[in-house]
Amino acid sequence: MKEHRARKRFGQNFLQDKSIIQDIVRAVRPQPADTVIEIGPGLAAITEPLAKAVDKLHVIEIDRDIVARLRTLPFASKLEIYEGDVLQFDFASVPGRKKIVGNLPYNISTPLLFRFGEYVDEIVDMHFMLQKEVVERMVAEAGSNDYGRLSVMLQYFFEMENLLDVPPQAFNPAPKVDSAVVRMIPQRGRIGIAQDFQHFSALVKQAFQQRRKTIHNNLKEWVDDARLIDVGIDPGWRPERIKPELYVALSNILLDNGA
Ligand code: SAM
Repeated sequence: MKEHRARKRFGQNFLQDKSIIQDIVRAVRPQPADTVIEIGPGLAAITEPLAKAVDKLHVIEIDRDIVARLRTLPFASKLEIYEGDVLQFDFASVPGRKKIVGNLPYNISTPLLFRFGEYVDEIVDMHFMLQKEVVERMVAEAGSNDYGRLSVMLQYFFEMENLLDVPPQAFNPAPKVDSAVVRMIPQRGRIGIAQDFQHFSALVKQAFQQRRKTIHNNLKEWVDDARLIDVGIDPGWRPERIKPELYVALSNILLDNGA
């Protein structure tokens, strides 16, 4: 088969470490009837063992040359291939409750992660290889340096666990950064339910506008100090000190008061 030269613009770092590939597939635990979607199959390092385990594997790939290559693989008849940008992909177009997997292109991982909340009720679980630093931000607890908007917005929808750290040598070409595999399981309601998700999301974005400033400063156009105190937030705290559930409570109380 013709050799494929990795394309930087598509974030192509291909997994080559067999034991890591095995660890990922073991973590996913694919069963024949599962609806599994793989984002960015690339040279099929994870695709092959997944395709062997399930009746049908859905894959989304942007690189036309890779798509052509996928069509020639011995297990191609098991693949449902979607050629295009995963950021535009409608996950609801694949019927059934989905298990989503991917060694994600790091350049689009954050905008992609923000999209999954929309599909939370259709997801069984997700396993992603990401930049280690991103995984640390996802799982960070309030009070830590890594805690921010990404932590709050993903923890609203998912329970997350860092399963495995992965060094650059596990890939070809090796990326400049360390990686990690994260498991995400839908858990909406664990930190409360936002009455209006758009309001909650906008509030959190505003709260973290300037991390070094107090919550009073970041939210002064939105809320007065008395209301912050009502939900248990000290106006002098920085946004990274405030737990996800308090952001949910604050959004709800502002809506109740006609903000
Ligand atoms: N799964 C393979 C592996 O583990 O070796 C490849 C992983 S590589 C980090 C990322 C893959 O995602 C590449 O195949 C790349 O072409 C594909 N990709 C990049 N951007 C994409 C996008 N916007 N939509 C869909 N696929 C994309």
